[in-house]
Amino acid sequence: MQKDNDFVKEISSKEEDFSQWYVDIVRKAELADYTTIKGCMVIRPYGYGLWENMQAGLDRRIKETGHKNAYFPLFIPESLLNKEAEHVEGFAPEVAWVTYGGKEKLEERMAVRPTSEAIICSLYSKWVKSWRDLPILINQWVNIVRWEKVTRLFLRTTEFLWQEGHTVHKSKEEAEEETLKILNQVYRDYIESDLAIPVIVGRKTEKEKFAGALHTYTLEALMTDGKVLQAGTSHNLGQNFARAFNIKFLDEDQKEKYVWQTSWGTTTRLIGAIVMVHGDERGLKLPPKVAPIQVIIIPIIFDQSKQKVLEKVAQLKSRLQSNFRVEIDKRDEYTPGWKFNHWELKGVPLRIEVGPKDIEKGQVIVVRRDNSQKMTVKEENLIEIINKSLKDIQENLFQKAKQFLEENIREVANFEEFKEIIEEKRGLIRTYWCGNRDCEEKVKEETKATIRCIPFKQEKTSGKCIYCGKESSTLVYFARAY
Ligand SMILES: [Zn+2]
Repeated sequence: MQKDNDFVKEISSKEEDFSQWYVDIVRKAELADYTTIKGCMVIRPYGYGLWENMQAGLDRRIKETGHKNAYFPLFIPESLLNKEAEHVEGFAPEVAWVTYGGKEKLEERMAVRPTSEAIICSLYSKWVKSWRDLPILINQWVNIVRWEKVTRLFLRTTEFLWQEGHTVHKSKEEAEEETLKILNQVYRDYIESDLAIPVIVGRKTEKEKFAGALHTYTLEALMTDGKVLQAGTSHNLGQNFARAFNIKFLDEDQKEKYVWQTSWGTTTRLIGAIVMVHGDERGLKLPPKVAPIQVIIIPIIFDQSKQKVLEKVAQLKSRLQSNFRVEIDKRDEYTPGWKFNHWELKGVPLRIEVGPKDIEKGQVIVVRRDNSQKMTVKEENLIEIINKSLKDIQENLFQKAKQFLEENIREVANFEEFKEIIEEKRGLIRTYWCGNRDCEEKVKEETKATIRCIPFKQEKTSGKCIYCGKESSTLVYFARAY
């Protein structure tokens, strides 16, 4: 029988080597693994189960706000990708090209989608004729390929999964309203309520916006190593793609007009964010709303009472499974101690232990993953206690992350202090910026920190630009990012 393996010893220290800790957790918790294909990972069943629950929560919100799912081709002919100049320039360095079909060289090479604006717009130009055809509200769940030089499991891979929404509207106001609705009502609510990750929302600078967009809104989340991760973006495309792809409609006033568009996306990166925001030295901590297994039942087995205990846990599982995602670990070859560590590593929110003495007393032991709290629970109260505990864990994970975020937003007196904090403490720096791209680029060159966003929440104050010292009323967040 396997001894009470101390998994913590096999995981690099989070304090000392955060990057290696991250990789260890992702691999040992069996979320994902490397493959022999450079830059491509395999998402293992446990990681995919997590992704499916994440998808379900987001898909529900996307549909509740009036959108429908569809599927567009994986291949984009080069002539289509070339239509919007800024767009192609932005994506060119990362596009993978198909040049052969079987043994024949293609007349026109085709991109493997790095994003789908081009292919979708080519169809919208056929579908949109009159104001009656608008709005079009479509989303798709697909894989994406971007030829990355440096890759990291979930955070940056050559192939990844995402959803991308592409909408068409008759007015500028309507497109802007859609861009913000997706940002706040859909993405922010999903990331904060389901993933328990607090975000800062705002607008990207011209330098950081999506290639081809009028402007880009973003949600930024702080990881526990002090680096920031872009959790999702929502773009107001204006009429840039409409002009490039000739998407026009006949309006009620009988005039022909270009449409207004949006696009928006979130990816499997968010799995990486869950690991980095909530995980600890013992492994993952999964938010109950998306955890593939919410409750793991562990029978405490002795020879004489084995049958009785196994019957009891089977009974418990069938009672609980209509309310919760629950599994039993009845493997003989591992000790209960090994199993406790194993399921802690995998981040299961609640563990139930059942031994012969518990059965006699009509009770079970319930242990929380987030704070290790141990409760003795009468069987008749079990469903109620599980319900309450899962809610508490979800809330507790969010509050803890929120506190960490708030504690790591700093203000600085000057650029020297800025450099010091970015180097030593990281986190977010809230400061004034004059709006000049040169200052933005110089700060990046000297500190590797970028402007994560211009927050919606501005104050009616002004101060000096962190780089050039010019008076400005624009507050921004700088940070190093993934
Ligand atoms: Zn400046």
